Amino acid sequence: MQTFQHYIGGAFEEAGATFASLDPATGNPWAQMPAASAADVDRAVRAAEAAFFSSEWAGMTATQRGKLLMRLADLVAENAPRLAELETRDTGKIIRETSAQIAYVAEYYRYYAGLADKIEGAHLPIDKPDMEVWLRREPVGVVAAIVPWNSQLFLSAVKIGPALAAGCTVVLKASEEGPAPMLEFARIFDQAGFPPGALNVITGGPEAGAALTSHASVAHVAFTGGPETARHIVRNSAENLASTSLELGGKSPFIVFDDADLESAVNAQVSGIFAATGQSCVAGSRLVIQKGIKDAFLARLKEKAEAVVIGAPDDMATEVGPLCTLKQRDHAVHLIEASVKAGAKLVTGGTVPEGEGFFFPPTVLDCSDAPDAPCLSTEFFGPVLSVVEFETEAEALEIANTTAFGLASGVFTRDLTRAHRMIRGIRAGIVWVNTYRAVSPIAPFGGHGLSGHGREGGLQAALDYTKVKAVWLRTSDDPIPDPFVMR
Ligand code: NAD
Repeated sequence: MQTFQHYIGGAFEEAGATFASLDPATGNPWAQMPAASAADVDRAVRAAEAAFFSSEWAGMTATQRGKLLMRLADLVAENAPRLAELETRDTGKIIRETSAQIAYVAEYYRYYAGLADKIEGAHLPIDKPDMEVWLRREPVGVVAAIVPWNSQLFLSAVKIGPALAAGCTVVLKASEEGPAPMLEFARIFDQAGFPPGALNVITGGPEAGAALTSHASVAHVAFTGGPETARHIVRNSAENLASTSLELGGKSPFIVFDDADLESAVNAQVSGIFAATGQSCVAGSRLVIQKGIKDAFLARLKEKAEAVVIGAPDDMATEVGPLCTLKQRDHAVHLIEASVKAGAKLVTGGTVPEGEGFFFPPTVLDCSDAPDAPCLSTEFFGPVLSVVEFETEAEALEIANTTAFGLASGVFTRDLTRAHRMIRGIRAGIVWVNTYRAVSPIAPFGGHGLSGHGREGGLQAALDYTKVKAVWLRTSDDPIPDPFVMR
């Protein structure tokens, strides 16, 4: 069985304990992963802290940091096929998707490489004649980055890239599910020439996560995962008073009006809910469809859902692979059962196929007569779509906003003024109009409510890894006047 190691202080090392990683396509163990203990976490944070204050890192110019990030970007691009194979093997995400996504991850490192020396301070027009006052932007310190198993090279790039560009150092804890690509990424990072400890990569479950997020030397926690875990993270941060950014789940509305290009909207819906086997935080998991076109839309969608190629994730022809864990599949099965009991009707799918692995077919549930079905409010994180119909634009908006989440949304219409009204009215961090699931390092990504807070991607993300220092310099040579009066 293949074995993987932690990366702490620039060295690869075994952990005291290990755990087996399962291949989701077969359900069988295929690799041994290190499991970080609280002591391992502590060493990783100390290594990051030592690096943060070292002259090698702290003394480096922003331009030099940018060059290192650029080198890292090139290495990620060169090694994308190998990383993609590992992510596919360890998480079941199809190779078609991992190869394209990881090649694009390099662009995130390039973007933040270019940004490193554009993070500027400011000069203030202060209201005192004998003072110069300016703001320095300084790195916040040691960042704890925690990612789930889906799209983890991508989800870690949007943390590591801006954090290193800003001059922070990072301890990344990969998920205990499918950590192989992150541990392999550490080997690639090691070749880029950063000082030891600038990035440390460990893995392990909730105990390691709790030790990391409550560690006294951690200044910021950048978390992606579920809302329940986020609550733990926020509680943990009561220990170190670290700031947090939380990228959580979603129940994103995918709204289709009767004037939309149906073929295009159906294809976008397929991408929005069946791509990545539905294991995407921005999955367009609630189809909100205008009554007059519902039957035609669902007929096309059913046809496409049933034609999807389900198979081995490492086969380029496969379109839907297994879910990452058995727990994920059990969750889908139970949620569908409860929703059908509440009156939702199965349009297609819904049954666990025979055979090995954690496969689950593309599924559509019509909830038009079951507004309280739990599938409309609970995230599946699987290829399951819930459908509700509407008659008026106001109704569409109300349904779209009936959610505790607020991450993404899609609007399909050819009516420009209506599109603008919907853009304004939808409460979500992302609105895609006549498209879905498009991302870029240049555009911020994130939500509100149960979808979390903070943004990843874009300029602001790098600024979020800095704190402002106000500097006051007195320009007068006269003695300080009355010491009892505040100046
Ligand atoms: P999860 O919350 O179970 O786990 C995420 C990470 O948190 C893992 O690394 C896990 O080990 C760690 N963790 C668990 N308990 C912890 C604790 N007590 N303290 C610190 N860390 C702890 O999430 P998951 O099931 O692996 O991933 C799926 C969730 O992630 C979904 O809700 C999905 O929507 C969300 N997600 C969000 C985004 C986004 O950008 N908004 C992207 C991808 C996934």
